Formats: sequence, C-alpha cells, structure tokens
Amino acid sequence: MIVGLTGGIGSGKTTVAKLFEQRYQIPLYISDIEAKRLMIEDTFLVQEIKALLGDESYLPTGELNRGHIGGKIFNDKSLLSQMNALVHPRVAEDFKQWYKAQKSPYVIKETALLFEIGGHLSCDYVISVIAPLQDRIKRVSDRDNLDEEAVINKIKHQSSDAYKMELSDFLIYNKDLSELPVQISNIHKKLLQIIHI
Ligand code: ATP
Repeated sequence: MIVGLTGGIGSGKTTVAKLFEQRYQIPLYISDIEAKRLMIEDTFLVQEIKALLGDESYLPTGELNRGHIGGKIFNDKSLLSQMNALVHPRVAEDFKQWYKAQKSPYVIKETALLFEIGGHLSCDYVISVIAPLQDRIKRVSDRDNLDEEAVINKIKHQSSDAYKMELSDFLIYNKDLSELPVQISNIHKKLLQIIHI
C-alpha cells in the first residue's frame, strides 16, 4: 500500500516519516529529496530546466544553482507551474520504479504538495501532519535561518490545514515530540489491520 504523508512547511513531515522508518522499518520516499536528485541526475530533465530557466540554473560543478532557480520561479507563477510540470511527472515515474522494488506491507511517500497536484488519488491512505502555526514559524525560521515574515509568506502560499484535514485518513498532531510515538504506533497498527497482518 502507498501511504501519502503530507503537511504544511515546518509541520514535521520529515520528523514523522523518519519515526515510521526507525521504529517500524517502513520504506520512505521523500519526494523533495528525490526531486532534487533527479534535477541533477536526469539528463533529459536537466536540459529541460536549462531551456526553461537558463544555463545558469546549474553551477559549473553540475549542482543546482538554487539562488538563480528560486529567484526565477518564486517571482513568476507561470515559471513555477512550468517548472512543476517538468519535475512532478519525473518524480512520479521515479516513485513508481522505487515502489515496485519494495517488499514492506506499506510504504510512505512524503510530499509537501499532495492534494494540490492530485497525488492523493494514487495513495491508498493519507496522513497529514498538523502543528500550531506559531511552532511551525519558529521551527522553520530556526532551521533555515529565515526571518519570521519570510516563513509566514511561504505558509500563506500553501493550502490550509483545514483543507488537508478534510481530505486525510489520519492526522498527527505534532506539538511535543514526546507525543509522536504513540500517534505513530496507533496509525501503524491500524494500517497493518487494514492489510490483515
Ligand atoms: P518542510 O516542509 O520544510 O520540509 P517538514 O514538515 O518536513 O518541513 P521537519 O523538517 O520535520 O518539517 O521539521 C522542521 C524543523 O522542526 C526541524 O528542524 C525539526 O527538527 C523541528 N521539529 C519537528 N517537530 C518538532 C517538535 N515537535 N518540536 C520541536 N521541533 C520540531
């Protein structure tokens, strides 16, 4: 089974995903990391990105020129959606190949944009991670060394928790880290029951 795991920026998606992996050996596919890998390794995608955003999108070392790419796509909605249209199908294909090789009763696909791009339709179940707004702002500003206004701006561009909650099968409330294991254990047990293990 494919279990989608989503949540707003700083909600704690990766923290939660890693707990499923560490405690229950659930295979994880972290879409954001794989997208960045594909943007470097997939030569066809590299060509398409260069055609869309310019050769400066890559450093002479072949790494992504994040400053250049971010400057272009976050100031131009059309470029952002064109970029997403290049990257998302590649990630979807890569995930399919990865998934075929997994032997676990279920896998977790962590992705920031799930409902927004219809990704939930290819998941059997969806977990959303929810956290208080103030905590999310503080976590991301600490982690990424951003001022709070910049984080609030990013949050404003994402879909609301209410929307995610409505479309999810399971919710994890991530305020205190100590409260995560029991929530994760309950969901893991329910998923195994569904699969009859
Ligand atoms: P993004 O959308 O930016 O990828 P995310 O939803 O995956 O973020 P994490 O990366 O898991 O969120 O968490 C963001 C930061 O907050 C990390 O530095 C993480 O260690 C920290 N964090 C996560 N959960 C908690 C918590 N309950 N208490 C304190 N810090 C937390």
